[in-house]
Amino acid sequence: MRHELDASLIAKLKRGLPPESVLVDPHHVLVYECDGSTAFKSSPDAVVLPRSTDEVAAVVRLCSEYGVPFVARGAGTGLSGGATPSEGGLVISLASMNQILELDLSNRLALCQTGVVNLEISRHVARHGLYFAPDPSSQSSCTLGGNIAENSGGPHCFKYGATTSHVLGLTVVLPDGEVVHLGGPRDSVGYDLVGLFVGSEGTFGIATEALVRLMPTPEAVKTLLAPFRSMEAACEAVSDIVALGIVPAALEMLDQPTIQVIEAGVNAAGYPVDAAAVLLVELDGAAHGMDRMEEEIRQQCDKHGAVSFMVARDAQARARLWLGRKAAFGAMGRLSTDLYVQDGVVPRSRLPEVLVKVGEIAERYRIKVANVFHAGDGNLHPCIPYDGRDADECRRVLEAGREILELCVAVGGTISGEHGIGTEKSDHMGLLFSEIDLDLMRSLRDVWNPRGLCNPGKLFPTSSGCGEAASLGSVAAAPGAWI
Ligand SMILES: Cc1cc2nc3c(=O)[nH]c(=O)nc-3n(C[C@H](O)[C@H](O)[C@H](O)COP(=O)(O)OP(=O)(O)OC[C@H]3O[C@@H](n4cnc5c(N)ncnc54)[C@H](O)[C@@H]3O)c2cc1C
Repeated sequence: MRHELDASLIAKLKRGLPPESVLVDPHHVLVYECDGSTAFKSSPDAVVLPRSTDEVAAVVRLCSEYGVPFVARGAGTGLSGGATPSEGGLVISLASMNQILELDLSNRLALCQTGVVNLEISRHVARHGLYFAPDPSSQSSCTLGGNIAENSGGPHCFKYGATTSHVLGLTVVLPDGEVVHLGGPRDSVGYDLVGLFVGSEGTFGIATEALVRLMPTPEAVKTLLAPFRSMEAACEAVSDIVALGIVPAALEMLDQPTIQVIEAGVNAAGYPVDAAAVLLVELDGAAHGMDRMEEEIRQQCDKHGAVSFMVARDAQARARLWLGRKAAFGAMGRLSTDLYVQDGVVPRSRLPEVLVKVGEIAERYRIKVANVFHAGDGNLHPCIPYDGRDADECRRVLEAGREILELCVAVGGTISGEHGIGTEKSDHMGLLFSEIDLDLMRSLRDVWNPRGLCNPGKLFPTSSGCGEAASLGSVAAAPGAWI
């Protein structure tokens, strides 16, 4: 159900914020109709850009008074329709709240507004030999608030853990406009409310400030690239490397279609285009012992028939290898008007068979698929380019996406590694959770967000009974889908 905004609400918003911070023109708000997942669209009635916790709280209080739904938005790079205003109402953009407020170097902490771009934190503290570890491939544009809401991962989370391991405290505007401070620099007793908030996908309130942990820049880094003749062999090499007890900072895999599209794009990384797969490995930490680890990894790659083994000579060569990986989704823009990036997890040892089956699913649905993924975590990202104007193709893409998730669950995996559930997978929660599980989650949400005004329509099945797998038709017919 959409909510028409009362003119007096708009007038109050305009009195409380600078005129340029309240957008109501349909052309202006259209930009906010979706996130990076263009399959799910729904325009907001208005967009506001507050600059402080107090301004966010004032806006949220007005939403509560008028019974208007609202959704926080960082950079809109999400890939599950999380920031889509499913029921209209207000988008509250944190884009103007991008300051790093305080640095505590002795305790390696930073207090940041949550609209700060992820990479800016590391840039800001680099001169002190520190960095912020969570590194989604979108890190040059995504915000800390989005990372917190999605509990985002990234290539280096194999070693360092996802966002939740790096957030110690939060200032949150609750859905009734009350401001609370959760957690802090020292371990707190009682329930871990910060842990609960991280990953709640914007349904518990709006985080306006976060106290984050900074890591010391590693003494040494080595980036290695091994091309393989088969994806199966490359995946087996990954399992064997991990089985040795080595914990690389990153273990990333790209298949041939991905390699080819990257190399054809502006960000050519120098990956061999005839390889069936390339494995990108990064080691970091103490310099002592790193050569030995490199040698052990080389041996595993050789054992599984790697065509070659390349070690980046310097920081520039390393950056080039990473640019290819980090620009992979963007490079796929040359293939079609839209891109559906699936996100499922499987046990690492099941990667080879699952990838074969993903290929079979794609063939059956007459779609193309390119795979780029966090191999160390078993976190798959089958990327499906499609034309959003072709209703039949859209339906086939969504159905294939669901089948891929069913496959992940069937082999003991899960339906999202890092992109969240959002709008996209709300009807797939039944693949993994029982009615009892979902009811418990709903009751948690209702404690934080009792009237359901904060980011409605996310996470929980909307089109069928709780815990029951939704029909594919109902996924395609979800509000605003494929418009
Ligand atoms: C090219 C590309 C590569 C990507 N690579 C990765 C990757 O490697 N790993 C990964 O995990 N993700 C990745 N993503 C997905 C995405 O970038 C992350 O989910 C990111 O954290 C979203 O941040 P954002 O600022 O864009 O959030 P948005 O898309 O604006 O919002 C995402 C969710 O967070 C909520 N939200 C935003 N700010 C707040 C706040 N302050 N308080 C409460 N809720 C809030 C929104 O309501 C929404 O539900 C990638 C995306 C792209 C386009």
